[in-house]
Amino acid sequence: TNHIQAAGDEAKDDAAAHFVFVPLMAQGHIIPAVDTALLLATHGAHCTIVATPSTAARVRPTIDSARRSGLAVSLVDFPLDYAAVGLPDGMPGGADNMDNVPPEHMLAYYSAIALLSGPIKTYLRVHAPRPPTCIVSDFCHPWTRELASSLGVPRLSFFSMCAFCVLCQHNVERFNAYDGVPDPNEPVVVPGLEKRFEVTRAQAPGFFRGWPGWEKFADDVERALVEADGVVMNTFEEMEPEYVAGYAAARGMKVWTVGPVSLYHQHAGTLATRGDTASIDADDCVRWLDDKEPGSVVYVSFGSIVHADPKQVMELGLGLEASGYPFVWVVKGAERHQAAALAFLRELEARVAGRGLLVWGWAPQALILSHRAAGAFVTHCGWNSTLEAVAAGLPVVTWPHFTDQFLNEKMAVEVLGIGVSVGVKEPVVFQVDHKDILVRRETVEAAVRSAMDGGEDGEERRRRARELAVKARATMSEGGSSNANIRDLVRCFQVGATQEQDATE
Ligand code: UDP
Repeated sequence: TNHIQAAGDEAKDDAAAHFVFVPLMAQGHIIPAVDTALLLATHGAHCTIVATPSTAARVRPTIDSARRSGLAVSLVDFPLDYAAVGLPDGMPGGADNMDNVPPEHMLAYYSAIALLSGPIKTYLRVHAPRPPTCIVSDFCHPWTRELASSLGVPRLSFFSMCAFCVLCQHNVERFNAYDGVPDPNEPVVVPGLEKRFEVTRAQAPGFFRGWPGWEKFADDVERALVEADGVVMNTFEEMEPEYVAGYAAARGMKVWTVGPVSLYHQHAGTLATRGDTASIDADDCVRWLDDKEPGSVVYVSFGSIVHADPKQVMELGLGLEASGYPFVWVVKGAERHQAAALAFLRELEARVAGRGLLVWGWAPQALILSHRAAGAFVTHCGWNSTLEAVAAGLPVVTWPHFTDQFLNEKMAVEVLGIGVSVGVKEPVVFQVDHKDILVRRETVEAAVRSAMDGGEDGEERRRRARELAVKARATMSEGGSSNANIRDLVRCFQVGATQEQDATE
């Protein structure tokens, strides 16, 4: 049975927009989707977020606290029917989130998600307290085309990515950039942009391209993007105006930039529970940071999906230790590590006690980054993490692994000028054991020193990062473009609004 929290029964405004969010069940997608819903609700909209059960459980505290503060948001969860996609025994460990689905079952996972269309439709037709006025679908869910059309409502594509990345991915496909380039690691220039950026097919193949067996899915994703009624993106215009405009022009549709959505959270309480229950006590964490000099702490995290290679874990730890700076390192759960790496981490933890804090699980990342002690962020360049660094005014050490992360690294280093790269050129996808160490301890140490100190260049990067943070706050406030876009969405999708005219204004 579904866990249903009915919301919006005591609607303040019968004509208010009702957005139904269909996020990808991955932390990097559902976290910004929830924040976007909360921002829209703050401006008078009703929002329903659909999720799978164990993924919903992670964001329920955030939704509950928003409901208590009077926002019309609800979270509805639907179990996946794995038997229907050829997994009669279900997913190992009952997984329903990208961070615990085994890679070999990924296509089955996406197929099971697509089967939610029926139950979601029934819920919205029969049980929801009010009919939807708009579907906000993660761009990874092409099946929401049919969902939206059968409900007779418009559909927006949601990207937890920057416009620079999405436009580059679009252009390499549109202009066949890799035609006649057999080597997936040979750099080509991204076509159709004013500035020159080089990427490889391995780094930026286009969405869902280059994975055997996913060809039809990739085509469906593209078709769903073409047929969408607009785009919602977690980025902001003042940071990348040419790429936001470029993507809107390339697609011929309105792009509502609404970020950085993490800035919805202004209080330690909601920051601490964002995305999941943190595995360290938020007060202890803040006290630990309070003891450190302003701008002195290096925060190290590789997001929710990256699996650590044991040799690389040790090398990174030694590099951090050698850098001499205080650090917070999110190492995820102990069960994620092989014995040797685990023993290494326990020893390191004891050696650096007081100076280095290891987080064994989920970290209250946005809380840590916004603390004045934070000085730099060693990141895998997931877009949320990158944008959270921007919102916090921090330079980044960039260490991309896969998907959009190489383009986000370019965004940080070449577009924004706030990043120092560790120099990884080839993606590693879902691999735990690599033959070689990709990034040596000396490289980690040098990159961290460069971000934290780095003389004139380092000062420039910090200055640019601080400037971006000021712009990020401004865009979310009265008069800023993200703030205006959030209001515009609420207006455009209220009952009886004529989207066709509004959306193409
Ligand atoms: N995050 C967090 N604590 C963690 C790990 C991740 O709060 O221990 C959050 C992080 O702040 C970001 C999201 O999870 O909002 C990860 O998204 P991102 O795009 O950076 O990376 P992904 O996990 O998608 O690779």
